[in-house]
Amino acid sequence: MGREVRRVALDFDHPLNEVWPGFVRQDGAEFPPCPDCRWGRNETIMDRLFPSPRDDRSTGLSREAYAVDQTFYPHQIGGPLAEVLAWCDKLGQVEVDMLVEERRIGLRTHWDRVELPEPYEINKYGDPVRFEFVRNDRPSPSAAEVNAGNGRGAGMFHDYHHDGLSRWLLVKHRCKLLGIEMECATCKGHCDIATYEERAAEEAASEAWKPTDPPAGDGWQLWETVSEGSPISPAFATDVDLAQWCTENKCTVNGPMRSFDAALAFVRSGWAPSFLGANGQITDGMTFIGEREAGEVSPNEQ
Ligand SMILES: [Zn+2]
Repeated sequence: MGREVRRVALDFDHPLNEVWPGFVRQDGAEFPPCPDCRWGRNETIMDRLFPSPRDDRSTGLSREAYAVDQTFYPHQIGGPLAEVLAWCDKLGQVEVDMLVEERRIGLRTHWDRVELPEPYEINKYGDPVRFEFVRNDRPSPSAAEVNAGNGRGAGMFHDYHHDGLSRWLLVKHRCKLLGIEMECATCKGHCDIATYEERAAEEAASEAWKPTDPPAGDGWQLWETVSEGSPISPAFATDVDLAQWCTENKCTVNGPMRSFDAALAFVRSGWAPSFLGANGQITDGMTFIGEREAGEVSPNEQ
């Protein structure tokens, strides 16, 4: 997220301020939407993360699971009975116990942090496991307490509030208890129709994707990396030429560089974030790094 100096072919003429397509991950093949799990509203599993305005999409959920999923909050139901029917504040004790076991509520009160002896085991991220959480003997909060924390006007920032992940676990748990198949039988939760082989090929292609750099060469060019990356200056034959350009054109988020020396120092150092802060002042990264490298004290630092 900032500015970068790239060495490109001198005749590289990709339009300025246009993202270089080699850096853009292409969307995979579009499989046809599943016709059997469109329940007339637009929320899918993924919409929790990426809300979309499209209506009537395939949801990936069975009809039975969709009913459980879409009646959690009053706003999903609407109308005068919404609060009576929504179940976000009508959990049973078994559900509350599940939330404690999953550490969705009561992590600080119902679980103890226990230091582990050396030598530490190494987890899958390569980090030593120095402690674990052990459920203590405090009984779970009552369903009534947890429900009171999720009704109208209960607020969001307390221990018993259900966030999106808790909601998802509750929907899954309720379906499991009731013997309800979560996923749409036709698309198995994918929301679209493809064979196993087609999905595998799609996944392989997506994993194999690598960015393609612009053609390398002797040129010096300034790029912004706030998007996937686009050139913002012409390609120059020397670093001095690019630095000169930087003092005459809007290249930082604020405007041109203030001094040639700082511009040249930045060009040679090669990269800066959009903003940097020092002594409580925020300045643009090119100016900050250039002036620091050039030995000039930024006015912000005085
Ligand atoms: Zn489906």
